[in-house]
This record gives sequence, structure tokens and C-alpha cells, in this order.
Amino acid sequence: MDWSEGRKRAFIISTLRAGSRRWPPKWQTLNSAYVGIRLNEKTNREGKHYLCALCEGEFPAKDIQIDHIIPVIGPEGFTNWDDYINRLFCPKNNLQAVCTGCHKIKSYNEGQERKTYGNQEVD
Ligand SMILES: [Zn+2]
Repeated sequence: MDWSEGRKRAFIISTLRAGSRRWPPKWQTLNSAYVGIRLNEKTNREGKHYLCALCEGEFPAKDIQIDHIIPVIGPEGFTNWDDYINRLFCPKNNLQAVCTGCHKIKSYNEGQERKTYGNQEVD
């Protein structure tokens, strides 16, 4: 196997990210954001809804994501695996449930910050 360093890093990152879905603070954060059964106006069905920590709207599970308040890759870009792993598998107080719309905006802004910093690394 003769992958480039970049390809190898991307592979390891996606593997770690997949594993982080089972990180207990992640689902604990989701459980804490639970507000109750609500009618989903789009589908006209009742389902579990969660509070977005940013816009304070209530959303069905599929429109909620768990966000790292301090991003996994900061404005300085990828530093080393210790930093990356510690930030990815972080305590619950660095996690928040956000809606997909808010998450998109936050991730975009973090990306812009990294660019301003002079780094092309992506989360
Ligand atoms: Zn939101």
C-alpha cells in the first residue's frame, strides 16, 4: 500500500469519525436536548423532537446534529493525532445539539476562519 500522507490521514479521520458516533457523551448530549413528541409539519407525523442550542428551534432527530463547540480542527488546521483525538472524543460540556441549518452556518464560519489563518485543512 502506497497511499500519500494526505490520503492516509483522510482515511484515519473518517474511521475515527465513524467510531465517534458511539462516543457516550454524544448520545447523552442528544438525550439532554430532547423536548418531547411533536408533530413534524413536513411529514405530518409525530416524532421525537430536539432543541437546537443555537436558534432554540425544535427539530426532528434527522435534522439535529451534535456539534463540537470547540471544533475538532481549529483555525490553525490539523496539528497532531493527540489533539485531534482529544478534541473528537471530548467531554459532554464541549458538545451541543444543533439543527442542520445552524450547523451548516457554524461549520462554514469555522472553515472561513481556517482560511483566514492561511490553512486549507477541512473538518
Ligand atoms: Zn438551529
